[in-house]
Parts: sequence; C-alpha cells; structure tokens
Amino acid sequence: MDYRSTRGSIKNTLNSSAAIIQGLAPDGGLFVPVNFPKVHMPVEKLSKLSYQDLAKMVIGWFFNDFSDNQISTAVDSAYSDQWDQAAIAPLSDQHANNYYLELFHGPTLAFKDIALQLLPRMMTRAVQINKVDKDIIILTATSGDTGTASMCGFSNQSGSSVIVFYPHGGVSPVQLKQMLGQNGANLNAISIEGNFDDAQTQVKKIFNDDQFKDKLAANGYQFSSANSMNIGRLVPQIVYYLSAYGQLVKQGKITAGDKVNFTVPTGNFGDILAGYYAKELGLPINKLICASDENNVLTDFFNTGTYDKKRPFDVTNSPAMDILVSSNLERLLFDLVDGDSNTVAQWMDLLEQTGQYSINKNQLKMLQKNFVAGYATQEQVESEIKRVYDRDSYVIDPHTAVASYVTKQYQSNNDDQTPTIIVSTASPYKFPETVYHAITGRHVTEKGLPAIQELHNKLGGTLTPGVQAILNNQPRPEQTIQPRQMEDTISSIMNLR
Ligand SMILES: *Cc1c(COP(=O)(O)O)cnc(C)c1O
Repeated sequence: MDYRSTRGSIKNTLNSSAAIIQGLAPDGGLFVPVNFPKVHMPVEKLSKLSYQDLAKMVIGWFFNDFSDNQISTAVDSAYSDQWDQAAIAPLSDQHANNYYLELFHGPTLAFKDIALQLLPRMMTRAVQINKVDKDIIILTATSGDTGTASMCGFSNQSGSSVIVFYPHGGVSPVQLKQMLGQNGANLNAISIEGNFDDAQTQVKKIFNDDQFKDKLAANGYQFSSANSMNIGRLVPQIVYYLSAYGQLVKQGKITAGDKVNFTVPTGNFGDILAGYYAKELGLPINKLICASDENNVLTDFFNTGTYDKKRPFDVTNSPAMDILVSSNLERLLFDLVDGDSNTVAQWMDLLEQTGQYSINKNQLKMLQKNFVAGYATQEQVESEIKRVYDRDSYVIDPHTAVASYVTKQYQSNNDDQTPTIIVSTASPYKFPETVYHAITGRHVTEKGLPAIQELHNKLGGTLTPGVQAILNNQPRPEQTIQPRQMEDTISSIMNLR
C-alpha cells in the first residue's frame, strides 16, 4: 500500500514504513493511502477476536510492507502487561443505551497510549526495512497527553530521541508532573510562551526547514513525528472502534450488523478520524458525534461549512481539546473532494493566510451524513461529571464529560435510539482538580499530586498502577522558551554543529 500527501501529486508516493518515518509530507500535507484498503470487515467475527488479533488485522491492512511477523511481535509487546486491563479498551455500560469505551488503562492514563505504545515499535522496524542510517529525533507538539505518552513509548529506545514542546501553563498540573517525570536519557520536554497552536505551527515549520534538515543530516539525525499527523499514530486508533463494537455484540447489547454511534471528544481530529476510517472499512456506524469544548471551531464547521479559527483561544478544563487548528481534518477534506489535493492545498493556504475557508453546500451535506457536532462549556463539563457520578457512581474525566454532555444534548434534540458509545479518553485522576470540584463543590487544598490523593480519599477504591506511578515520580525542573527559539533549543539539546 502506497501513501501520498493530502497536498501533493498522486505521483509522489512512498510505502507505509517510509511514511511512518517521515511523519509529515515535505509539502506540509499529511500522508494518506493512495487507495483506501478495500477489505471485508468481519462484522460477525469481531466479538470473537482479542484486541491484539484485531490490531494485527487492521495494521496488516494499512501497513503491508511490514512482515506479518514484524506486525505480530510489535502488537504483542505494545498491548501486554503495561495495561491494567486485559481487554486493553474495556467497555463500561453505565446507562440504558450509552456505553463508555475506556481508553485510559495504559501507562500514562490517556488514550494516546493506544497508539504510542505501538508507534515506537513500528518505527524501529520501519528503520530496519528502510535501512535508515540516521538516528531519529521525534519532534512533537503536545497539548499534554501526547508528550507524556510519546516519552513513555520511546523511553530509552536506542537510535531515537524525543523532544516535546508544550504550552507553558496550558497543560494540567498532573500532565506537567508526568511529562517532567518520565525516565529516560533520550527524553526532553520544554515549554513555550504560547498556546498549543503556536507550538504545532512552529513544529510544522521546523519540519519543513530544509536548511535545518541538512544540518541534522550532517550530524547523523533526521526528524520524525509522534503527533497524530503521523499515519503510524492514526491507524492503531481504528482498532478500538472494532473492539468496542465486538464487545457490544458479545455482551448481547446489539446483534452483529446493527448500527452504533460514537461520540468522540475532539481536539486535533485524530481520534474521530480513526472512527471515520473504521466506518469506511465497513464497521456499521450510524453517526460520529464530534464533541468540542469552548474552542468550538469544529462545531461551527460541521454546522455551517465554514472553518474559522479567528476567535479567542480559551484555556479550559479539558486542555487536550484546546485547539483551534485541527490538523487531521485535512485528511477528511481530502476524502471529501475525492483526493483532489489542489483543493485541499488551497483551503489550507486560505486557513493560514486569512484564518478561514469554506466548503460548499453540497460538500457540507455529504459531511453531515456521517458527522454531527456539538460542544460543552466548562460549567456543563462539571455538571455532567456530577450528574454521571450521582446517578451511576461512575467517575469520568473532563474530556469524557464533554462527549457525555454532547451525547445527552444530541439525544434530547434528535430522535435517535441508536446505541451510543462515548469514547473515554482519560482517567479522572489525570484531572483531579476539576473532577473533585465537580463532585464535591469544593476546591482541592493543593493542585497536582496532592489533589490525586484528595480525590482518591473522596472516591475510595484502589489506585491503578499508572496512578501510583505518577505519585512516585521525580519531576525535572521546567524550562520555558519563546517559540522562535525552538530550533536553537533543538540544536543545543542534540549538540548539533
Ligand atoms: C488528545 C486527547 C483528546 C483529543 O484527541 P484528538 O485525536 O486530538 O482529537 C481528547 N481527550 C484527551 C484526554 C486527549 O489526550
């Protein structure tokens, strides 16, 4: 299977392992399959396959220049006992017709682990396949969870270093402790004076700076990315949509072939795009419900057809969704115009130069066949956490609460009885301040690690190994720079000459 850029010619292709190493296309576009895999989705069999079996199947569909053995060994070690649940992504049924798909049972307590436990293992194999003679620098912008999960995934992996840039003051206290506390001589996390979009824009620029690339090469390095812009990050996320469906069948809640909805708390549009790919592959999905926080660019886009980033950037209690430029939407647009990369490139230019672009009415209608969108304010997030806790004694994190709220809103405004799976992206212990306040009406005494303890005292039960690990970590001091200093900082970390 070959990959091409969303902004480039169909003649420029590369195989999947090379696309994973490159991360981002040289023209600034994202890699997409030249021909989307035409497969038979084994809907009847999904409930009988383990998470690992499903992963091997899906990865094999997309990344076929890896051998079966390479895929199999990578998957088996990525989804092993670093997860605190054998199901990897268990489904919890708390409501009559709504289910929470828990994606936070990995080592860093957020759904990013699903892809970032696998990506480094695929990267090592990709480097072998392509006989790459340089060390890889994983350069990543993060709104919190990608940073920690990529540092954890690549920790002490030979031949690779990780450099993470995150917004100063824009990640939660626990996320900060996690990033600064990851063990590994090859790991670096640096904050910038700016927001996530500033970090992501600058990272994209650095990726496409030819002079800097030459300097790296002369020093024996090349860049790759662990952001959801990397196709190696996206494809592993398709798996949990299949797994969730299979679990519903197994629990007798649906019959194989029935349709389901998924509500996805959305930031960079990677998670929900994987759901769209699952649907394209034949999974019986009715609606994909795109849930945003107060940074509701996507809600407006799916309702009006205009993407307009010219609005204030809000720092909210769901920081991983505080994003105004959702990179992966570009892959959906590419599909919408049947691979017309010129149109995609024009839209992306308009976005950069004028801050907005519009699709036409017909295109909007096509999108609305698959997608519905809504958003929740910070107050609605807190009241949703409380509502779910009071009714079901079930605790959800603020990101999941956005999705839970938007689901409720969608169901009360529409006559849609389709069973709905709410994608749960983080453990509530990652955001203890908000969760504690929502449930008790009081603020925690001290933010960060003590807040975890305080929330635990309130909720009872046993803490998972992942939460224990946070309590025990030893964070490094924080370093803050200006966005324009990012290249120089990379040079000095890697001792470039
Ligand atoms: C990253 C993240 C999201 C958003 O996912 P996207 O793929 O960026 O849309 C939502 N919730 C949590 C907890 C996250 O870490």
